Amino acid sequence: MHKTATKLADGRELVYYDQESGTVRDTVDERPLEAAASLSETRLDPVLGEWVTVAAHRQQRTYHPPAGECPLCPSRDGRLSEVPAADYQVVVFENRFPSLALNSAAHVTAREDDPLRTLRPGTGRCEVVCFAPDHDASFADLDEAKARLVLDAWTDRTAELSALPEIRQVYCFENRGEEIGVTLAHPHGQIYAFPFVPSRTTRMIRRAEAHRADTGRNLFEDLLAAERAAPERLVLRGEHWTAFVPFAARWPYEVHLYPNRRVRDLTELKEAERAEFPGLYLDLLRRFDRLFPAPAGSAPNRTPYISGWHQAPKDGGDELALHLELFTIRRAPGKLKYLAGVESGLDAFVTDVSPEAAAQRLRDAAAH
Ligand SMILES: [Zn+2]
Repeated sequence: MHKTATKLADGRELVYYDQESGTVRDTVDERPLEAAASLSETRLDPVLGEWVTVAAHRQQRTYHPPAGECPLCPSRDGRLSEVPAADYQVVVFENRFPSLALNSAAHVTAREDDPLRTLRPGTGRCEVVCFAPDHDASFADLDEAKARLVLDAWTDRTAELSALPEIRQVYCFENRGEEIGVTLAHPHGQIYAFPFVPSRTTRMIRRAEAHRADTGRNLFEDLLAAERAAPERLVLRGEHWTAFVPFAARWPYEVHLYPNRRVRDLTELKEAERAEFPGLYLDLLRRFDRLFPAPAGSAPNRTPYISGWHQAPKDGGDELALHLELFTIRRAPGKLKYLAGVESGLDAFVTDVSPEAAAQRLRDAAAH
């Protein structure tokens, strides 16, 4: 993997990731762009003890632009986008409309004196990861070498962002599909570098610490061993990775992908694990697309999904195991699972698809 870091016209960082060493990326961003101030703040919910990010300035962000104005396509034919080069393989840049930004501290003052109204600047970083230059492609269309390049980019961003003193946890994820709320059709994901440990991660770590106290063992290692021993929820079993539907899946189709060797984060994966990941992940994504029939016409089915890497925070959380969680909100053709009263109100999920039946359908969705 070859990396070239540069700056956009407004000072934001942009990094090209290329397969070939020696690739030259020296195109200058010629747009007249003013540096944007971030007014983000994080407020502590005094009842739940969870941080909420307030990013009111994001209301102005780009919303469903026509394909000819896509800000993630390469800059071509006199049209200047967020990526100055006329072509690229994988590129990462700071979001122009970030929920969290390192310069928030310059514009928002922390308030720590009132436990009911604790507020801090939304200090962090939000990045966009473009998976391919082709506007109409999808992650599942990548070949293994390009998917590997994305894995290498995620890994590099995790290392770089974790090194920032303000950052406590790095989350690499993809939202795919309008049903999920994606406003740009171009194949891309995002990275959030948080100044706090989000509550779901904290809950996982607490459960794992309790399991260690009770049994002397690691929760995730026990979980993986149990799922590998009983095939009813297994979807894919590689030499270095295992994919299964969790016992208490929340979503209609949900798969968790773990390296067989427990590691804290992407930076700890070894070459053999990195080499096997692209084939397994692409297989999973393509199975998701085969779950539902293609719409009328020639377009393939694109199942909407969310896919995200759960990584240990950089300080503490040693019991957490790196894993990827992939799920769709589609429960049947044309039908979505909405988070309604009990889920939104109480975080108590009800699912309509049994996890074992979901695993069977995903196993049956293999390529023929
Ligand atoms: Zn595009």
